[in-house]
Amino acid sequence: MTLSRRSMIAASGLIGTSAALGVPGSTPAQASPRAPRGYGLPTRKIGSIDVTPLLDGYIDVPADGVIGADLAEARALAAAVFQAPGSRRIPVNAYLLRLGGRLVLVDTGAASGMGATLGRLPMGLEAAGVSPKQVDVVLISHMHPDHINGALTPEGDAVFPNAELFVPDADFAFWHDDANLSRAPKEMKPFFLGARKAAEAYAPRLRRFSGESEILGPIRSVPLPGHTPGHAGFIIESDGEGLFIWADVVHIAAYQFARPEWGLAFDIDPHMAAATRRRALERASGDGMLVAGMHLPFPGFGHVAREGKGYRFVPAEWDYAI
Ligand SMILES: [Zn+2]
Repeated sequence: MTLSRRSMIAASGLIGTSAALGVPGSTPAQASPRAPRGYGLPTRKIGSIDVTPLLDGYIDVPADGVIGADLAEARALAAAVFQAPGSRRIPVNAYLLRLGGRLVLVDTGAASGMGATLGRLPMGLEAAGVSPKQVDVVLISHMHPDHINGALTPEGDAVFPNAELFVPDADFAFWHDDANLSRAPKEMKPFFLGARKAAEAYAPRLRRFSGESEILGPIRSVPLPGHTPGHAGFIIESDGEGLFIWADVVHIAAYQFARPEWGLAFDIDPHMAAATRRRALERASGDGMLVAGMHLPFPGFGHVAREGKGYRFVPAEWDYAI
C-alpha cells in the first residue's frame, strides 16, 4: 500500500468519525450562513462605546520622506521588525464609534484623491452595516487629504449628508490662508483645495474646535500641533476605560517609537511635531492608556512602553469577542 493510499484511508476514517461526532463542516452540504454584519471587523469596547477600526488603504512613504533619520539606524530599525530597508508601507485607518445610539466617524480616509491604494473606507462602513446617511458626527483630526478627502464625493458633495463635521480651528485657518497656499510647494497645493472644499460642502454643519474641549459627551479633543497647526487627537472615556486616538502622532511605527525626533516630510512644523510626539508618547507610557493611531499597524490599537531613550509600541492583545 502506498503512503498516499494509506493516508486517504486514514483520512476517510477520520471523516466518518467526525461526521458521527457532529463536527462542523462534516455534515452534508448546506447553504453557508451569511457573515453577520461587522464580522471580521475587530471592534473593541471602551466601556459602553464600540470602536470599530476601518482600513482606508495604505501609503508607501519613500526613504527620503522620513526627515532627520540616520540611514544606518533606519536600516537596523527596519530589520528589527523583519522589514527590508527603504520605503515604508503605512496604513490609513479611521475609527467608527457607536455611543448611545449615535454614530461618530473619526477621520474619513482619502477617497480617490491619493491614488488607487486608498479609498476603501466606504466598504468598511458597509461591512459594519452603516450607511453614510446614518453617520451623525464626523471628527477630523487634521485637514490632510488622507483624513478629510473621504468626506467628499468626486463631485465635491458631502458623503455624509446628515453629519456635523468637526475640524480643528487652527487647521481651518491654516488651510484657508491664501499666503500659505501661495508659499506651499506645488505638491501640497491640492491639500489646500481639499480642505477648503470639505469645509464648504459641510458649511451649514461645520463645527470648529480648539484646545482641550468636550466635543460630545465622553469625547474630548487634545491639541497635538506640529504635523499640522491644528492637528488633534481625541480621548474617549466610558465606565472607567479610556482610548486615546492620537491620529498622526506616529506615522512610521518601526522608526518613530524608538526615534521620536524623526519626522515626516509632510510635517508642517517638524520641530513642534517631534516635541508633541515625545509628549504624547510620554503621556501614554505614563498612564498606560490604550492608544489608536491613523497610521499605526491596522487595527492600530496598542500601548506605549518606555525603552531605552525612546519607546516601543505594544500592539493590544485581542479579546477574541466575535
Ligand atoms: Zn495622515
